Amino acid sequence: MFKRILIANRGEIALRVQRTCRELGIETVAVYSEPDRNALHVRNADHAVCIGPGPALESYLVIEKIIAAAKATGADAIHPGYGFLSETATFVEACVEAGITFIGPPADAMRALGGKVSGRKLMEAAGVPIVPGANDISLDDFETAHREAARIGYPLLVKASAGGGGRGIRLVERDEDLENAMRGSAGEAATSFKDATIFLEKYVSSARHIEVQLIADNFGNVRAFGERECSIQRRNQKLLEEAPSIAVTPEIRKRLCDAAIAAAKSCGYRNAGTVEFLMDQEGNFYFLEVNARLQVEHPVTELVFGGVDLVAMQIAVAAGEPVPDPDAPVEPIGWAIECRINGEDPFNNFAPSVGLIDFLQMPAGPGTRFDTMLFEGLDVPVFYDSLLGKLIVFAETRERAVQRMKRALRDLIVSGPQTNIPFHLALLEHPDFLSGNFSTGWLEKSFTMPELTDDDPRLEQALIAGAVAAHLIGGDVGEAQGPSSSLKRWTQASRLLSRRGIRIEGGTRGWRRGIGSR
Ligand code: ADP
Ligand code: ADP
Ligand code: MG
Repeated sequence: MFKRILIANRGEIALRVQRTCRELGIETVAVYSEPDRNALHVRNADHAVCIGPGPALESYLVIEKIIAAAKATGADAIHPGYGFLSETATFVEACVEAGITFIGPPADAMRALGGKVSGRKLMEAAGVPIVPGANDISLDDFETAHREAARIGYPLLVKASAGGGGRGIRLVERDEDLENAMRGSAGEAATSFKDATIFLEKYVSSARHIEVQLIADNFGNVRAFGERECSIQRRNQKLLEEAPSIAVTPEIRKRLCDAAIAAAKSCGYRNAGTVEFLMDQEGNFYFLEVNARLQVEHPVTELVFGGVDLVAMQIAVAAGEPVPDPDAPVEPIGWAIECRINGEDPFNNFAPSVGLIDFLQMPAGPGTRFDTMLFEGLDVPVFYDSLLGKLIVFAETRERAVQRMKRALRDLIVSGPQTNIPFHLALLEHPDFLSGNFSTGWLEKSFTMPELTDDDPRLEQALIAGAVAAHLIGGDVGEAQGPSSSLKRWTQASRLLSRRGIRIEGGTRGWRRGIGSR
């Protein structure tokens, strides 16, 4: 077993991996950028190495700096988390060359499955249905692109082979928009992923995003852990995930898991991976991509499979141990839901929101897990993605899990940056969500964030609180300090006030900055 693992990541996932290492008696090495100096993953580590300035391209994405940190601290393995270098085959090769175990798939399996285009080719050869499309298109040959697009039919998607997190995807409805979409997708992919390879895919409407969690060992065993439902998305980015899926029967589950296992076996895949599918209303599914890494939403699977620790399994198989019980049943034992808590403003088109956390109340209680990098006093940096934490609940049924999640979301108070907690609360009330009647396009098409109305009972409370605050701090709400959940509501109230023509000293922005918001 490993003695010391370097975690080449930050945020909640670095903490998640650290926890398992500590339980296993393995020392941890943190790497961090300058603005992350005070982060929890640095404080909690046994060793920590600064790897450069804020921009990821100068720190978390620099292979040489991470390998040097591992060598300097005597780490014998590296866990990449998700994002950053987790799907970069040259990073895997650099680890091997330095004599350090990479906790993830081998470089060739990562190349074969990690890219969407090569993944499509492999799946087609393995007999797994793929979304109709065209793999070999480029900006140098628009003629072929138009011909292939006509064959596939509109609407279609231009996608980046190396894309992730919903980036590099363009919807095209008319032939005259194809070339611009191709340029846009290739450009975004080149800057975000250093790989401008693009391809075309038929746009499948009213489909669900269903994915299968796998763990594979060095002995050819591949174990599937059922499915996750990830159709609640905005801009092709997941916001809420569940396990199991309301649309998956035991029979479909078996077929999904068999297809995912066949996919992994066809290329000698090892360690944790996720096979993503689009599933139509008839239960037919089509391969989308493989994420050759641990995924953001892995906790929902852990909870419905009796509390398995997928990170511990990753570490075990990387250390040469077999996957326990590869033929164990793929039936979940309850229901789990995850809400991604993002630093963004749901009342302002989900604009990113960062800054000082001046008050924090964490949810707890039965079936409640909060994986987060937050603590009171953290100044959330601007350089990275908006994920502040993941609130995950487990219960016997979907209905109970929804009730539990609403309770936990109300327990969670983040003062400082605006968060999407109000969005999740509204989503969990929506009849379509409750009945399970949604697909990947549903959120953007059919869901609107409810605005506060003039008869909202919180308005009076906020008016009183606002008056008291103004009195206490001489009208300069910019100076107001935490703690207080009710203070958060003033933010929303300030919007109502300004709509009614009541001006707040210091302006709405000062007001919001000062008292935090929810
Ligand atoms: P998906 O890629 O299917 O959206 P996740 O939601 O688990 O899967 O994404 C994991 C995280 O990693 C997200 O924060 C996303 O922005 C980031 N990410 C995913 N793929 C890449 C990539 N190739 N390069 C950089 N970041 C990525
Ligand atoms: P990423 O690596 O960014 O996660 P994916 O290929 O997994 O890219 O696609 C992200 C999301 O975009 C999917 O979950 C789905 O909602 C939507 N999507 C992708 N491909 C298609 C398609 N062919 N038809 C309809 N929706 C799609
Ligand atoms: Mg995906």
